[in-house]
Amino acid sequence: MAAGSAMSGGRALRVESGPGALLAMIRESGGMTTRELIAGSGLARATVESRLARLSAGGFVVQGVQDRTTGRPPRVFMLNETGGLLVAVDIGTARTAISVTDLSCKVIASAGFDMAVSAGPGLVLGEVATRLRQLIGREHLDPSLVMGVAIGVPDAVDLSGEMARPPLSDLPGLHTEWADVGIAREVRAFLPALGIRPIPVVVDNGANCLAQGEWLTSWPQTRNLLVLRLDMSLACGIISNGQVLRGANGLAGDLAHIPDEGSEVRCVCGRTGCAAAVASGQGIARLLGERGAAVRGADDLVRLAEAGDTEILELLHRGAHRLGVVVGAAISTLDPELVVLGGGLIEGLPGLADEIRRVALSQVHPLVAAHIAVLRSRMDPAVGLIGAAQLALEQALDPAQVDAALDRGVVLPLPGNGSVET
Ligand SMILES: [Zn+2]
Repeated sequence: MAAGSAMSGGRALRVESGPGALLAMIRESGGMTTRELIAGSGLARATVESRLARLSAGGFVVQGVQDRTTGRPPRVFMLNETGGLLVAVDIGTARTAISVTDLSCKVIASAGFDMAVSAGPGLVLGEVATRLRQLIGREHLDPSLVMGVAIGVPDAVDLSGEMARPPLSDLPGLHTEWADVGIAREVRAFLPALGIRPIPVVVDNGANCLAQGEWLTSWPQTRNLLVLRLDMSLACGIISNGQVLRGANGLAGDLAHIPDEGSEVRCVCGRTGCAAAVASGQGIARLLGERGAAVRGADDLVRLAEAGDTEILELLHRGAHRLGVVVGAAISTLDPELVVLGGGLIEGLPGLADEIRRVALSQVHPLVAAHIAVLRSRMDPAVGLIGAAQLALEQALDPAQVDAALDRGVVLPLPGNGSVET
């Protein structure tokens, strides 16, 4: 997938770099000719040709013909997108989704199950293993072709990509059961029983997966965007200069916990006045007191608001106003080209997006307000999974991984052929 990133042309490769680095250039550009690869890598023709031969023999690249109307059409080397599989898992607070994709991050098969994340890693990850085994069997997928796994979790993640961070409070909603659990290690442990070879497994904050997926799916030409999803939870991720912005603790863009001094509403993070506590569906359900027990999902809030429930309309309006303020502050900090608003509450009640946009733009420099776009997204539920698959792809096709696979004699199946791995 081109991923909207600039082509790697001009990024000179070191002579000691292997075929994997050449594959990274091919992948990021969407396809390159030998001539383009020589110019872009700065390597000698003989070196480029021998590395392309290895990548072709290993099934990592396939050749196509560039669509040019004049002259002899040059051959283009492209990633063999059907040569391998990726597993993407999106663990949400109430539901977990699993997808198997090809190497273009296109979803081939999906499964999911309802389970509160507070059930803990033993039960949730055990069910992930069971459902993944069923999915592989049902769709007749070859587990030996799985090249990477990525897991999005509804919490902060250690920057090593291995585990959730320790909790900040003992309040329900912050997932203390997951603290210090080596999620990636637990997943690696069950893969052999499914017929999956040792492969990279990485964990990221679900909000980062969401931002990445939304970006690649709908706005690949945009380099700087802020993605906000408002449903029962509030998630926000940032793409900065064509990359997920993670910050020092993996929490960059976490607008959900920006507090308002004037508010005494308690948040799951242990503090008061956070945006999530007044604007998310869960926050509003808590503010409803006993009535909140009837609110199980964003759909319930949408239905009640559409029926004219004044208490809920007032809470939703206040929440949207608060979100407008924090989004405005984020715009002033980041100066993105685009803010994308999505999620069940925005989809069901588009007036909330209008309110967030109005307040946010009233808070920022007029020059910024005149140029930024604040748009609604359909935000397909699969967006987080596509973002996770992209993360798995980055790990699976890391140049060192590709070089090691070629050294081991791995051969990916070519389109239309069966598995020929040796
Ligand atoms: Zn908070």
